[in-house]
Amino acid sequence: MEWLAARTNDGRDPLAGDEIEEFTFEGERFRLMDRQRGIRKPAVLASALAIRTVWRPEGAPRPYEDAIAADGLVRYKWRGDDPDHPENRALRAAMDAQQPLIWFWGVAEALYQAIYPVYLVGEELRQQQFVVATDGLQHLRPTDSPLDEVVRRYLRSETLRRLHQPVSRSMVMLAYHERCAVCSLRHNELLDAAHIVEDRHDLGVAAVRNGLALCKIHHAAYNSRILGVRPDLVVEIRADILEETDGPLLEHGLKGLHGMPLRVVPSSRSQRPDVELLTLRYDRFRAS
Ligand SMILES: [Zn+2]
Repeated sequence: MEWLAARTNDGRDPLAGDEIEEFTFEGERFRLMDRQRGIRKPAVLASALAIRTVWRPEGAPRPYEDAIAADGLVRYKWRGDDPDHPENRALRAAMDAQQPLIWFWGVAEALYQAIYPVYLVGEELRQQQFVVATDGLQHLRPTDSPLDEVVRRYLRSETLRRLHQPVSRSMVMLAYHERCAVCSLRHNELLDAAHIVEDRHDLGVAAVRNGLALCKIHHAAYNSRILGVRPDLVVEIRADILEETDGPLLEHGLKGLHGMPLRVVPSSRSQRPDVELLTLRYDRFRAS
């Protein structure tokens, strides 16, 4: 996991399958991920080391286990339906020993966001799945008490932050070729994956159509309603800002963009900003 942190800017950047295969331990190649199977259980370990979720293109049916359950945690399905399948036993062993696992989450063909460590904190036999908690949440389980609503909400927001956000950030960055949609600035460390409508698609990891790659300044301008994006993908700057006079950032970075179309739009139609979501957001911008 230290190696992954060094390779991924602390979990921010996705890794290609080939890069993941470069890991060595004590001078030997050591596979962290199984490209054929979902579950990686090295022969030298007593329990599973990694799980994997296959990438699916936008619009393809999403597997049930992507969703955050009512308790605020996500699920990982068994391999097949036999509880005694060696891979399911390997997962159970990791759960019983509270061993940390790596979750490789496909964000494009053969490209993975590594989420680590995660812990298996429960098993649901009837649904043939394990309950997965991201780091720091493994000792928190809500009961059915209404008082536990606070715990459930906390688990949900942390699961979004640690699991869904890095995955959706990578997907948005890939769709926009790591450029700001408004000004086409190209430096990953200066870019954010902005939501068009907050939390509306919090279950949809792959909801690139509810995202925009924006540089820090345009993200902040979008959030504070200085900058709006029309449903036909044209940028507008708020009227009072247009009347100001100031240095180059205001003149070129904001005022100069008024009436300009977005400079970067995903090539795949299903990944382009959703008109309905844009309209909702643009109406709020107009209202200000
Ligand atoms: Zn920008």
